[in-house]
Parts: sequence; C-alpha cells; structure tokens
Amino acid sequence: MSGTYQAEALVLRRRPLGEADSVVTLLSPSLGRFDAVARGARASKTSRGGMVEPLNHLKLLLAEGRSLDVVSQVQTVKAWRGVGADLHRVAVATYLLELYGALVEPGPHASSARVFGSLVRALDELEEAVLPVTLGCARAELRLLTVMGIAPGLDACVVCGAVADVSRFSARDGGIACRACAPNGALPVSVETLALVRALRDPEVARLNERAALFPAGSEHAAQAVVRAHLDWHLPQPPRSRAFLQQVAE
Ligand SMILES: [Zn+2]
Repeated sequence: MSGTYQAEALVLRRRPLGEADSVVTLLSPSLGRFDAVARGARASKTSRGGMVEPLNHLKLLLAEGRSLDVVSQVQTVKAWRGVGADLHRVAVATYLLELYGALVEPGPHASSARVFGSLVRALDELEEAVLPVTLGCARAELRLLTVMGIAPGLDACVVCGAVADVSRFSARDGGIACRACAPNGALPVSVETLALVRALRDPEVARLNERAALFPAGSEHAAQAVVRAHLDWHLPQPPRSRAFLQQVAE
C-alpha cells in the first residue's frame, strides 16, 4: 500500500475540524510530535475514529494527505482508564498532555523515543498511584525537562560551581545558585526543599516515596515550585490547564 504508514502514538490533543472531523496532535516514539486528521472522530465514540481521544496510546495506520496525514485505522494499546477514576489525577494527566504538546518541538528528534517513554511512564505511575499526586506531578515535570535535555542544575551553583550555601534557584542561569551568584528575584530554596527536588530524580519510585514521607507536609509544593520556575522559563506561556489543576488540588 503506497501512501500509507504505521505509527505508534499517544493522543495529546484533539480539536474540531469542520462539521465532523478533528485535528489530533500525536506524540510518537519514532515520529515525535505531529498533527493528523481523524475523520468523523467527533461523530461517534463507537466508530473506529472514536478512539482517537486524548490520553489514548494507539497503533495507527495513516494515509498521506496533501497537508496533514489522515488516520485510517486505529488500534488501542492502552487508555489509562484508571486515571479517570480520580479528578485530581485526571487534572494532572490533562496538564501533562498540554505540557508535552507545548514543550516538545514538532517532528522527529534523536530524543523522541525517550520523550514518548517518559510520558508513558508518568501516566503509568499516575494510574498506579505509586506516589502522592503532587509529588508524582513534580516528578513527571522534572523528567520531561530531563529527557528534553534542559534539566535544571541541582548539584552545585550553576554559576560558580560552589556546593555550599546554594540557597536560591535562578531559572535564568539554569538551576540552583549560591547566595553570592544568585540574581535579585531568584527563588529562595531551603536545604530540605533542594533535597526533595534532588530526590525526584531517583529512578526508584518506591525509594522516592519512602524518602518523601520523611519531609514535612507541604514540602512537595515547595519542590514543585522550583521545578516549575525552571519549566516556565522554557515555556512561551504558563499551561492553561494548570489553573484547573490547582483548583482541583485545593
Ligand atoms: Zn555561585
């Protein structure tokens, strides 16, 4: 079959196109982020196009189109239905999809498979509820920055390399900074908060969970604020779904 190709992809976003069709934004391990047309995807949830919904991991057959390619066959690999049982987790998943859509550049990249894998892992961890929701969200945010190659420097002052008195976070400089190097307006970071942000990088989720339990209640919000200061430096605007996430979390 000429003019068609297969792809594995996760649906990040869907928006209407004309009367019945949709444009879907997809994230694929081989093709990176790209848009495609899903015919009739809004008409019926039981049609084969009906599965082309955000949060679904799909195997697709695509037909080459004049501008956008068209989804012609769909097979669901995973739908993370367990996430839907809890509004807070739904809000985090929605936020993460928006974040990936905003931060990942269109087209295939050397890091596409790792970027895709990081989102699958974040959604698996969210569905399995292996961490408190906010801590899991902060971990996913930091992991996205890491696979994109723009992780914040957390181990020494990013300006002078000092390891003592690193008590500020300077997104402009790319990470933590000592008191002498930090610019005015840098975010103050306590020793405990920095320890928790560093712990978010732990590949062992069970170990992170154990360590996080030793921190005072609310520490995860301070750790998340540090990750978000860095994230927002790299985003053209704050994600719209963050406001909804904050409402749900309260
Ligand atoms: Zn310094």
